[in-house]
Amino acid sequence: MRFKLILGVLSLMTIVLLLLFYFMPTNKFNFSLEPGNSNFSITPNSEMQYYPNMRFADSQISYQISNCPLDKKNEMQSAFGIIGNLTSLKFNPVSSNGQISVTCEEKARIENEMFVAGEGGPVNITLSGNFYVITHGEILLLRKSDCPKPNVAIHELLHSLGFKHSENPKNIMYNITDCSQTIGDDTVNLINNLYSVPSYPDLSFENISGIVNGRFLDVNITVLNVGLNDAGASKIIIYADSNPIKEIDLDPIEMGRGIFFSMSHIFIPQISFTDLNLEIVSDFNEITKENNKIKLKIKS
Ligand SMILES: [Zn+2]
Repeated sequence: MRFKLILGVLSLMTIVLLLLFYFMPTNKFNFSLEPGNSNFSITPNSEMQYYPNMRFADSQISYQISNCPLDKKNEMQSAFGIIGNLTSLKFNPVSSNGQISVTCEEKARIENEMFVAGEGGPVNITLSGNFYVITHGEILLLRKSDCPKPNVAIHELLHSLGFKHSENPKNIMYNITDCSQTIGDDTVNLINNLYSVPSYPDLSFENISGIVNGRFLDVNITVLNVGLNDAGASKIIIYADSNPIKEIDLDPIEMGRGIFFSMSHIFIPQISFTDLNLEIVSDFNEITKENNKIKLKIKS
């Protein structure tokens, strides 16, 4: 609707300019993204987690414990407290819809002639930019650890935060539990590193293509939310050099999702220009706004 309105306002000017336009030589230009579009990255560490950069969206994570006897409930709460003290994470108990759900089972389970102490892991994961965002984790406690520290509960909690088994028998993530095992500094460091990125959305241009035909621009634009949270409404402004030629309203975009659209016959009032610049303008915090601007280079 807005497109039509702007066209209406410009129609008189367009008629005058079209006369001029038809007597001018028509040039077609293709353009593409200039290389070197900046994108933040954090140290990749694919060794310790099921997928690289697994984390919950926020460092405040809710949990609920249901159907657990008091000793196991205490053990689990103590594990949340220990990881909360060692890292930047904060775990908050809730009575329903916890991001991590903890349940208990009394019956003994045996696999490979060994008692299974528990199970845990991320159960809902969304890929968003550099992150595999965990939206839900589950922990099942079967056996009490009988150690001074709640090693089984810590082990399962770290699984639910995306950590896989360690090859080191002295590490708490080794697949056979032992009271002398400890939480690795590398685990703590990776958690703190991953959660040092704030829980913001992050809008970014992807796959821009288009054509300038005489004084008109046709363009295909994809905008992705590669951040850690849903993005509200925003807008795109297209500039010929530094002069705005078009404003486009963008709907809210959920974390890990994107919007594709194409527009044609965007009139460029200037007779000559060297660059087309696109900018995403948002009034909310983003992980970075460096990827909100893009310069399109005209191919000759
Ligand atoms: Zn395990």
